[in-house]
Amino acid sequence: MNDKPEKLIDKKGLRLDGRKPDELRTVKLEVGVIPNANGSAYVEHGKNKILAAVYGPREVHPKHLSLQDRAVLKCRYHMAPFSVQERKSPAPSRREVELSKVIKESLEPAVFLEYYPRTMVDVFVEVLQADGGTRCASITAAALALADSGIPMRDLVAACAAGKVDDTIVLDLMDTEDKQGAADVPVALMPNLNAVTLLQMDGTLTQEEFESAVNMALEGCRKIYAMQKEALKTKYVNVSEENKDEEEAEE
Ligand code: ADP
Repeated sequence: MNDKPEKLIDKKGLRLDGRKPDELRTVKLEVGVIPNANGSAYVEHGKNKILAAVYGPREVHPKHLSLQDRAVLKCRYHMAPFSVQERKSPAPSRREVELSKVIKESLEPAVFLEYYPRTMVDVFVEVLQADGGTRCASITAAALALADSGIPMRDLVAACAAGKVDDTIVLDLMDTEDKQGAADVPVALMPNLNAVTLLQMDGTLTQEEFESAVNMALEGCRKIYAMQKEALKTKYVNVSEENKDEEEAEE
């Protein structure tokens, strides 16, 4: 099915989807999409479509997992069976268990968990459609959902990958580039604290290539952060407009 194209970068230096090496895919972010959750977000990052929902702080189940000095942050990353072309088993795979841990560890430094001892904050990430880079898009979505839930945070977390395809360092790899490229470096950043909360590498890069990929990914994170702030603002502008309409209707 996935025949390897001869070249991932054409003569003009453009990628299979027409992007320049340092160009992000189109990103759309929306906050407050699941009203029953305490916080939620929907992210479209290229062809990735991802929902995140936050519940809590709430009682810990099972109780023995509770911590005396802070809340437990629990993350579940799950890919829907229809999220990829070949049906994926709905049971949690090793990859999903790993990504749940990766996402939790990327978000934990940003949340004031110590404000809520003996409680639990549940973060559910559901990938509806996957096309490479879902861990980063999931972190972006989950951080927005946490912010939407009102749990105090030190900073937002924005994530983006860079990597190497053919001989070029590129930003934000899509599925084909991820699978057939030489390397993938996912990065998550707390932009105001300028602190990296995730740095992984799959593949091989020279030290110079690694540095240039990390810098490119950090630039991508900063662009995504600007969009996250806009998405949060948009929700509250919409809510205040709805309230205004209701007040006017009552008068
Ligand atoms: P990430 O999504 O963070 O890049 P991986 O590198 O593990 O994580 O996965 C790369 C891509 O491979 C995913 O985004 C998805 O498009 C695809 N993929 C992952 N798991 C499966 C699967 N079980 N079946 C088909 N495609 C998959």
